[in-house]
Amino acid sequence: MRKRLLCALLAAALVMSAGCSRYTASREFSLFAMDTLVNVTLYTGEPEAASKEQAIMSGAVSSIEKALSVTREDSDISRVNRKSGQQGTTVDSGTIEVLSRALELCQVTDGALDITAYPAVKAWGFTQEEHRVPSPTELEALAAKIDYSAVKLEEDTVTLPEGMEIDLGAVAKGYAGDWLARDARGNGITSALLDLGQSTIVAVGSKPGGSPWRIGVVDPARPENYFAVVELEDMAMGTSGGYQRYFEQDGVTYWHILDPDTAAPARSGLSSVTVVSPSAFLCDGLSTALFVMGLEKGTAFWRDHPELEFEAIFVTEDGEIYRTAGLEGRFSLAEGYTDREVTVLE
Ligand code: AMP
Ligand code: MG
Repeated sequence: MRKRLLCALLAAALVMSAGCSRYTASREFSLFAMDTLVNVTLYTGEPEAASKEQAIMSGAVSSIEKALSVTREDSDISRVNRKSGQQGTTVDSGTIEVLSRALELCQVTDGALDITAYPAVKAWGFTQEEHRVPSPTELEALAAKIDYSAVKLEEDTVTLPEGMEIDLGAVAKGYAGDWLARDARGNGITSALLDLGQSTIVAVGSKPGGSPWRIGVVDPARPENYFAVVELEDMAMGTSGGYQRYFEQDGVTYWHILDPDTAAPARSGLSSVTVVSPSAFLCDGLSTALFVMGLEKGTAFWRDHPELEFEAIFVTEDGEIYRTAGLEGRFSLAEGYTDREVTVLE
């Protein structure tokens, strides 16, 4: 009898918890920064908390942009670039933090990620969207100048050798995503989705009902479609792909991810790489680096670096799909793609 009463009470509690949500307010807003639209969706029990968070986030995104933008003349990065070959430039402590973390990632990836690729990025016209194909001699000279190990950080000062310029475009969205997510969590928000220009997404907690966020992975061959869905809970995801920024000339497609060894678009046989990790910074930086490495080297890198705690999805130019074993239970093929073969990397 007592057992039956207990069961009834438990069932009632379950129905109640399913029926009434803790979240009475949701807030969606967009912020424009770093050449992308940042879309934020917040769920909270208190509307004031959402307003407060919106104000903090919009301030934070502007400060991050003001520090790290390579196109804004007054940013820390632009000031550093203007002084290349001269004395060091004093920058904000936040800029030093991003730079030192980015340089660490350049080192770990053995230069597949290289923040000094900027003169080459400019030469291809990706900064101003005035595209051109540099000559082989020009590319050789540009490649010779790409070397992250020549960037000097001393306390709050950055020094670059003559002709070298830096660009944090490969990691800035991830850095911003982590900052926003940390702030939301710190202010008691347990359910939010931060979408930084489609390529970097951070899930704070789970969906309001308690189930994981389901995020689509773009089919690089048909970017209007998602070929897979990844379930995320307190987790970030970043994708780098040739389809995201490119131009065509004489029947050849040139994209914005460059191989630091050649200063030309990285042709590793991949068309996109998606990285899943608790750190959006790592997702952003590693997706770019793994795209440069290609499938074979990228898989070896994943095997050799369990301490980085990331998983990856690779799509080759032939449309083959590979994913790492750690995504088991969190990865599924999207509608219309269920007949595609997925190779699991162990
Ligand atoms: P993402 O879109 O995150 O893959 O980053 C690509 C952006 O980073 C490009 O638009 C360039 O500004 C810059 N970039 C291109 N190739 C590299 C590279 N190998 N290492 C670091 N940054 C790069
Ligand atoms: Mg990146």
